Amino acid sequence: MKTISVLGSTGSIGTQALAVAREGNMRVAAIAAGRNIDLLEKQAREFCPDIVAVYSQEAGAELEKRLADTSVRVMTGEEGVLAVATHPDAEIVLNAIVGIAGLRSTMAVINAGKTLALANKESLVTAGTLVMQAAREKGVAILPVDSEHSAIFQCLQGVPEGSLSKILLTASGGPFFGKTKKDLEEVTLEDALKHPNWTMGQKITIDSATLMNKGLEVIEAAHLFDVSADDIDVLVHRQSIIHSAVELRDGAVIAQLGTPDMQLPIQYAITYPERLECPCGKLSLSEIGTLTFAHPDTETFECLKLCIEASREGGLKAAAVNGANEAAVALFLERKIKFLDIPRLVKLAFLAQPKVESYTLDDVFAADKAARKIVLENYK
Ligand code: NDP
Repeated sequence: MKTISVLGSTGSIGTQALAVAREGNMRVAAIAAGRNIDLLEKQAREFCPDIVAVYSQEAGAELEKRLADTSVRVMTGEEGVLAVATHPDAEIVLNAIVGIAGLRSTMAVINAGKTLALANKESLVTAGTLVMQAAREKGVAILPVDSEHSAIFQCLQGVPEGSLSKILLTASGGPFFGKTKKDLEEVTLEDALKHPNWTMGQKITIDSATLMNKGLEVIEAAHLFDVSADDIDVLVHRQSIIHSAVELRDGAVIAQLGTPDMQLPIQYAITYPERLECPCGKLSLSEIGTLTFAHPDTETFECLKLCIEASREGGLKAAAVNGANEAAVALFLERKIKFLDIPRLVKLAFLAQPKVESYTLDDVFAADKAARKIVLENYK
């Protein structure tokens, strides 16, 4: 029986991770979230963790009152979230915080020498070099939760080192596949939130509509699997059945297939290397019938192009595009900007970020802050 901690426990991935823990009778040592104390209270009462952390101080004070009849310790702020990330009993910590807000936790889990099940792609996007270097130094495994990266990881099991020649990263294409820039001028928030195949948190759903998500995944894959962006082909695959594939040096292509359901990659990251029964549906290829593939339209969906460029250039370009995107998506969710303002603002931040060879964690946060400032100064 594994003991786990879950960061971002109230979100789309976090709640599914707790479902895996429930199903597998796992002990949940600690949980953390931003401010949803109604759900945190329920989770605390069900899983009886040692610590529940709430990033918001105000919400934390209220949760402490509500949980006064239990032995659960309520902590708040960054200190609380990091206490969850480093809880001594957790063998594996799943980081499902959204955005760069998850970066310090990622570093804390690694520095505590714990296995990291990573959904928070923004950690790798913004500070991939530092994250991977820390993991190597600490001998810590990073198990991908993102379905594409989990697929690649699964395809590479048993493949000798040095045999990978290319990654085929699949993309659903999002709700606006086939649309022109003109079509995208007037799309609404509601249109962008309608993902054809996946139910996810709001930020990643918008990122899927702009193809920023695929761009972030290119940067993430380059770090995780130690390849360059030029060795990653993005393929639009509307059915979301092939979750990604690898091409090996002899030309063999190995793909991982399954229903579009995050339960499997979440469970695999937690139970790795074991394979347990999964409540997600089984795949019927005869019912699906046809699988299609197309090149992405990087002229219309410019965020993807900017991310690929950021991955090629390295340094802090990726932190800049990520920070600008987080700020722009927040404005779009508040209906303050139009859909096409997102790539426009991300591009401004990309161009403004100077090239650097190496960076520290402080530099990453500074680049993130500068990119957000550019967005706030230029969105109107
Ligand atoms: P959600 O928006 O559904 O959940 C985000 C979680 O992060 C919530 O629990 C939220 O708490 C918590 N949170 C936000 N800020 C903080 C903070 N400062 N400290 C602690 N917790 C915080 O997001 P998703 O579950 O959709 O996505 C999570 C991550 O997983 C993202 O990086 C995303 O890209 C990645 N991912 C998601 C997939 C999906 O299917 N959803 C698929 C692949 C990757 P609260 O609710 O209390 O505010």
